[in-house]
Amino acid sequence: GIRIYGGRIFRASAHVDRLFEGAHAIRLPVPVGKDALVAAMHETLRANKLTNGYIRLVVTRGAGTLGLNPFKCSKPCVIIIADTIALYDEDVYEKGMSVIISSVPRNSTNALDPRVKSLNYLNNILARMEAVDAGVSEAIMLNAAGMVAEATGDNVFIVRDGVVATPPPHAGILAGITRGVVLDLARKVNIPVSQRELTRYDLYTADECFLTGTAAEVVPVVAIDGRTIGQGAVGPITRRLKDAFHELVRSER
Ligand code: PMP
Repeated sequence: GIRIYGGRIFRASAHVDRLFEGAHAIRLPVPVGKDALVAAMHETLRANKLTNGYIRLVVTRGAGTLGLNPFKCSKPCVIIIADTIALYDEDVYEKGMSVIISSVPRNSTNALDPRVKSLNYLNNILARMEAVDAGVSEAIMLNAAGMVAEATGDNVFIVRDGVVATPPPHAGILAGITRGVVLDLARKVNIPVSQRELTRYDLYTADECFLTGTAAEVVPVVAIDGRTIGQGAVGPITRRLKDAFHELVRSER
C-alpha cells in the first residue's frame, strides 16, 4: 500500500525495496525491476487521473494448479490498483480512537514473519473481527510471548515520560514505512525514541498512544480495552508528530 500526495508517490523507493525484500524471503520472483515498477505506478496514476490517493501494488506468482506447489505457477505478474482511500472518519484524528487488544496472537516470526508484507491477512482479519464486535476500529495484537506487536493494519507507538517507544521488528511486526518516517521526525525535533518490547501494561499506562500506517497516517489512540490513555485526548507529542507528518507529506518532493 503506497500513498500519493500531490501527484507524488510518497517514499516510492522504500516501499519497492521492502516489496523486493519480502518477495525474496518467500521465493517470489518479481518479474520487473525496481525502476520499471515505479514507472508503471506513475503510468497507472496518469491513466486513472489521480493526484491524491492510494496504490495497491501486488505481485502474484500467477496462474497455477489447485495444489500447493508454487513452482507450478509459471508466470509471475504485477497488478497495480490505484484508487482513493479514507480509512477512518476525520474526527478520529482530532478526538482519538478507542481500540482493544485482540485475543488472537500475531503470526510468529518463525512461522510467517510479519515483516513479509503479503496479502495473507487472515491472522489480522481474525483480530479485526474482534474489534468490530467490540464496536471499535482497530485491534492491537500481541505476539506469542505476549509482547505488543502491532495493530491489524498499522504499527503501534506509545509515549511515556517524554520518550516515544515502539516495538522492534523482531517483536513480529511489519517494518512500516510510516513508522520509519515518524521515528525520523521525532529524532529530528529531539524527541527521544526507543524501539523496545512493550507489554499490555505499558499500553494501559502510557501517557499517549498512536498508530501509524500508509492509509491511516498518524492516528491518536485515547482508550485501550476501556482504559483511558493519558487525559483521554490527543496528547502533545502525538499532535506534534501528526502535524509534522502532514507537513512532510505535503512538502516532500
Ligand atoms: N502493520 C501491518 C500489519 C500493516 O498492514 C501495515 C500497512 N497497512 C502497517 C503495519 C504499516 O505499514 P506502512 O506504514 O508501511 O503502511
